Amino acid sequence: MQELSHALIKALERDGGKLLMRHTVRRIETENHQVTAVEIHNQKTGEVWTEAADHIVANVTVQNLVQLLDTQAPKGYRHRVDKLPPSSGAFVIYLGVKQAALPPNCPPHLQFLYDYAGPIAENNSLFVSVSHPGDGRAPEGHATIIASSFTDPQIWWQPGEEATSRSAYQTLKQQYTNQAVARLSSFFNLTPETIVHLEAATPRTFARYTARDQGIVGGIGQRVSTFGPFGFANRTPIPGLWLVGDSTHPGEGTAGVSYSALTVVQQIEAS
Ligand SMILES: Cc1cc2nc3c(=O)[nH]c(=O)nc-3n(C[C@H](O)[C@H](O)[C@H](O)COP(=O)(O)OP(=O)(O)OC[C@H]3O[C@@H](n4cnc5c(N)ncnc54)[C@H](O)[C@@H]3O)c2cc1C
Repeated sequence: MQELSHALIKALERDGGKLLMRHTVRRIETENHQVTAVEIHNQKTGEVWTEAADHIVANVTVQNLVQLLDTQAPKGYRHRVDKLPPSSGAFVIYLGVKQAALPPNCPPHLQFLYDYAGPIAENNSLFVSVSHPGDGRAPEGHATIIASSFTDPQIWWQPGEEATSRSAYQTLKQQYTNQAVARLSSFFNLTPETIVHLEAATPRTFARYTARDQGIVGGIGQRVSTFGPFGFANRTPIPGLWLVGDSTHPGEGTAGVSYSALTVVQQIEAS
C-alpha cells in the first residue's frame, strides 16, 4: 500500500504535477452550473487563494464533496447523500513490541474473529499486520503489530459539555484499547515488558488527520442498493466536476481508488 502511494507521487511529479501538503480546499466554486475554481487555504501561513480550473477532480468522500459545494450542490445529489446508509469507521491500535512478543514463524497478516456479546459487541473482528525483520518498520530485535477493526463512527462523537464528552471519549478509547490488547494476547506474548509503544486511532483521529467527514472509512459500502450502477458515478451532475476515491466504483483500497482516478483521466482525455 505504501509502495503504491510512493509510486503515485513519483508519477505525479514526473508529469509536472505538484503535491501540496498541509493545504485545504475549502470550497468548490461554480458558475452557471459549471465548475470554475477551488478556494485553497494554506494551513501553515493562513494564506487563502482561488485557483481557476476547467476540470476539478475531487478526491474526497461524497459527503465531503457536498460540503465543499455547500449551497451549490444540486438538490437531488444532496438528497441521495443524505439518504445513504450509515458508513463505517475504524479503530486501530499500533504496537511497537520486542521480538519476544511474536510466536515463531509469525505470519505477516492475520484475522481474528470473535463470537462476542460483551459491551462492545460490534467490535468482533481484528485485521492484524505484523512487520518482519529487515523490512524497515521496526529496529532490530523489535516488531510492529497493527490491528484494526470496524466501528460505528457515531459512538465516538458524543454531544455534551466539552469536558464530559472528552472524558467519555477517553474512556471509550481506553475500553477499546484494552479489549484489543486482550484479544491479541491470545496469540501474541503481550506484557508490560514486551510492549515498547502503544497508541490507538479512532474515527476522531481519522477525521483530524484525513479530513474525512466524521472519520468514516471504506466508502459507501457494498450493498445491493449502492453497488456498481447504483453507486456514485465519477461524473457528477456539475459539468467539469469529477469524484474519485472510495465513494465511487470500485470502492475502497489504495489500488481501487487509483483505478477510479484512472477512469476519470481516460474520460477527461477522451473529451
Ligand atoms: C485502518 C485502515 C486500514 C487500511 N488498510 C488498507 C490496506 O492494507 N490496503 C489498502 O489497499 N487499503 C487499505 N485501507 C483503505 C485505504 O486506506 C482507503 O481505501 C484509501 O485510502 C481511500 O482513498 P481515498 O483517496 O478515497 O481517500 P483518502 O485516503 O482519505 O485520501 C484523500 C486525501 O485528500 C485529503 N483531503 C481531504 N479533504 C481535503 C480538502 N478539503 N482539501 C485538501 N485535501 C483534502 C486527505 O487529507 C487525504 O490525503 C485501509 C483503511 C483503513 C481505515
